[in-house]
Amino acid sequence: MDSSVAGKLEVFMKKIKRNSLGQTEFHNAVQEVAEQIFPYIEDKPIYHKMRIMERLAEPDRVFMFRVCWEDDQGNIRVNRGYRVQNSNAIGPYKGGMRFHPSVNLSILKFLAFEQTFKNSLTGLPMGGAKGGSDFDPKGKSDREVMRFCQAFMSELFNYIGPNLDIPAGDIGVGAREIGYLFGQYKRLKREFTGALTGKALQYGGSHIRVEATGYGTVYFMEDMLKEKKDSLEGKTCVISGSGNVSQYACEKALQLGAKVVTTSDSAGFVHIPNGISRDELAYIKELKNVRRGRIAEFAKEFGYQFHKNKKPWGIPCDLAFPCATQNEISKKDAEMLVKYGCIGVSEGANMPATLEGVQVFQDAKIMFAPSKAANAGGVAVSGLEMSQNAARLTWKEEVLQKNLRTIMSDIHGKCMEYGVESNNYINYLKGANIGGFKKVADAMLAYGVV
Ligand code: NDP
Repeated sequence: MDSSVAGKLEVFMKKIKRNSLGQTEFHNAVQEVAEQIFPYIEDKPIYHKMRIMERLAEPDRVFMFRVCWEDDQGNIRVNRGYRVQNSNAIGPYKGGMRFHPSVNLSILKFLAFEQTFKNSLTGLPMGGAKGGSDFDPKGKSDREVMRFCQAFMSELFNYIGPNLDIPAGDIGVGAREIGYLFGQYKRLKREFTGALTGKALQYGGSHIRVEATGYGTVYFMEDMLKEKKDSLEGKTCVISGSGNVSQYACEKALQLGAKVVTTSDSAGFVHIPNGISRDELAYIKELKNVRRGRIAEFAKEFGYQFHKNKKPWGIPCDLAFPCATQNEISKKDAEMLVKYGCIGVSEGANMPATLEGVQVFQDAKIMFAPSKAANAGGVAVSGLEMSQNAARLTWKEEVLQKNLRTIMSDIHGKCMEYGVESNNYINYLKGANIGGFKKVADAMLAYGVV
């Protein structure tokens, strides 16, 4: 980066940091995008003059609200709810809701900012948002989760709607939570509209929404490998997490002939030296989605070693799919992956690799697919759920399978368009950032100063 660009970037980041003190996750997300965008717009002064990056890094608005509910013992509980509407330049706000004790404003601003670029990359008309609460569904009864969701929606419903802002699931918000949230929305609004996605098929959901993020992450890897005349067949994969994204990344990797040797949750990881079988994956799905158990129970049931409080990145592999949470691959973890033979990383979770971790992958010139491209399959199918709801139709599963595959290839193509470097290394991060930015930025230019 030349010194005049670096100077502009420094001034920009200083202001961001001053205006959002202590919001490190948000700073890192903005920094990662700005590092690619500033050199790109250096010879395009209109983007500077219209302060496009500055406007994108200041959410349109943020809602924070008290969520008060009663637990099974009759105790009154208080949590905090959020919705960050980052940008609706290219379509209504769209992005998931996260229920996890770690949720705070910094994390949701980072996710809403990222979502803006990701949604743009899908080619569908969707703006960027994110929301959630520090509520922890773990260990709560179904009734408690229902009461929390109803209390949460009693405030949130004021800010969302099918043409305004369409939330979906994320960590801690699966089919059960979406059901309770949608039920309460419908009751309060007295209308049946597609104001949430990730709904069950019986009430307006879409085929393959559940599978879409995990499948899409593996499809992106398949496209990167294809570019190198290679495939997933016979590759050893490490996958983190055991939730929605992880389960379906594992399923697709198995379908494409790969061997998946790890699974994990926040308590540790399990090593399966010969690879997870389809029956074992079915067990994990039932354990996590129905019984809401811990991954250590899987290790015990099948006689595998459980590595308590450890991450799976030290297990030798060809490919890595981090599918749990942000910042789960540190610089040291990334170095270990490279050292033990990893040739490609596709991010199922949102920004699971730290900035330093990403640098390690890029320095080693291995394939690296950033989350905003690699996990965009989920929101893409959510976009298709919105289309189906608006038309009051349900498309056939084959149609959605085909659409998802095409969208992921198109995103890969967009990354190639902007990401191929002079030494022929494909910098997917750069490609995704510029590809996502351009459409949003050009729409903002068209609107003038708003
Ligand atoms: P789930 O809640 O279904 O699963 C999350 C998994 O990650 C669980 O195994 C969980 O373990 C683990 N996990 C959560 N926090 C931590 C932590 N701090 N350290 C280690 N492991 C952790 O969520 P999803 O699968 O839906 O989401 C996973 C990631 O993918 C998130 O980054 C999300 O933002 C991203 N994503 C999800 C999309 C979707 O369609 N669902 C779309 C795009 C991105 P435990 O059970 O112990 O908490």
